[in-house]
Amino acid sequence: MEGVSKYFDAGNTVANYRLDLEVADGEFVVLLGPSGCGKTTALRLIAGLERPSEGAIYFDGERVDDRSPSDRNVAMVFQNYALYPHMTVAGNIEYPLKVRGIPPDDRDDRLEEVTRLLHIEDQVGKSPAELSGGQRQRVALARAIVRQPSVFLLDEPLSNLDAKLRQEMRSELKRLQNELAITTVYVTHNQEEAMAMADTVVVMNRGTIRQIAPPGELYDRPRTGWVARFIGSPPMNLMDGTRRNGSVDLAEAGTVRFPGAPGNGDGTVSLGVRPEDLSVSAEPPPAGNAIEGVVDTVEPMGEYVLVNVTVGGRVVSAKVADTDLEREDRVFLTFEDDDAYLYDENGELIAPT
Ligand code: ATP
Repeated sequence: MEGVSKYFDAGNTVANYRLDLEVADGEFVVLLGPSGCGKTTALRLIAGLERPSEGAIYFDGERVDDRSPSDRNVAMVFQNYALYPHMTVAGNIEYPLKVRGIPPDDRDDRLEEVTRLLHIEDQVGKSPAELSGGQRQRVALARAIVRQPSVFLLDEPLSNLDAKLRQEMRSELKRLQNELAITTVYVTHNQEEAMAMADTVVVMNRGTIRQIAPPGELYDRPRTGWVARFIGSPPMNLMDGTRRNGSVDLAEAGTVRFPGAPGNGDGTVSLGVRPEDLSVSAEPPPAGNAIEGVVDTVEPMGEYVLVNVTVGGRVVSAKVADTDLEREDRVFLTFEDDDAYLYDENGELIAPT
């Protein structure tokens, strides 16, 4: 996609604004962002269900803006995938091949192959009404891949499934995509899903792309405060402060050293530290960075305990293994210099570089 914008309502609604995105052959790209940020519109533009208001879309170097969806060889699976209720599973899966005039023998071969891939060999004779939600979803996926599309487009395909099944299908989809190496663009607002499946995550907000990065890099280096607040569960803590050369003054919460940040000078900044990089103790540390606060709530989560600490009027969360702390205890939050992030007043990452 080159500079692709999409406006609705005579330009009053900006669904997508100047999207630049390159997806490599066989890549699994996830469009991730909050509701209404333009993910579905971007997918529909790639599918050819919408035309760009500005910009151009290319497949293999050829401009496809004027090509109909059927001329793009894309397969799309939506959240509310509809199977034909009067046809069997086999009939549903074979349908796209029939429409294209593929001979019965070839159809049988492909049916066998995709049902094996999706572990639904035993379901082929059933009608959709006899299937569970997960099985129906598999049939919808099988129907989409059976005609060997060059691009696979998925819009929240797992959101109608319960949590356990969603996780199962997530692994399965990833495996399937690996095996078939089909170029895939997947839309979700679920960051866990995005991080687990994507080769590359495209973070969107308000119709624009905020960051394009592999999951690890997105987590390690969120380029803006907005992305930092969006990734992680709970996300990064960001505290407003004033930068004075090598340190950040957090007002009543204390001063934090920041020797590694490039440039110098004063200015309003945000200091970021992830919950998992904070330790909490009742005693001030002998050295290093410490932020003082008061325990607000303690949430035992099983594999970790979330301690929410009020620091200068805002809540900072720390993920710790165990704690004896209670509400209203005065505490010190400590962290390593390397685990701190610094964002400037426009929300752009200053450090780490
Ligand atoms: P969700 O996760 O809730 O599905 P999304 O990120 O997929 O949201 P889109 O469905 O792409 O977002 O919508 C982006 C914006 O464009 C929204 O403000 C939406 O109301 C608007 N929009 C989408 N399609 C149309 C349309 N056909 N006509 C008018 N406005 C539209």
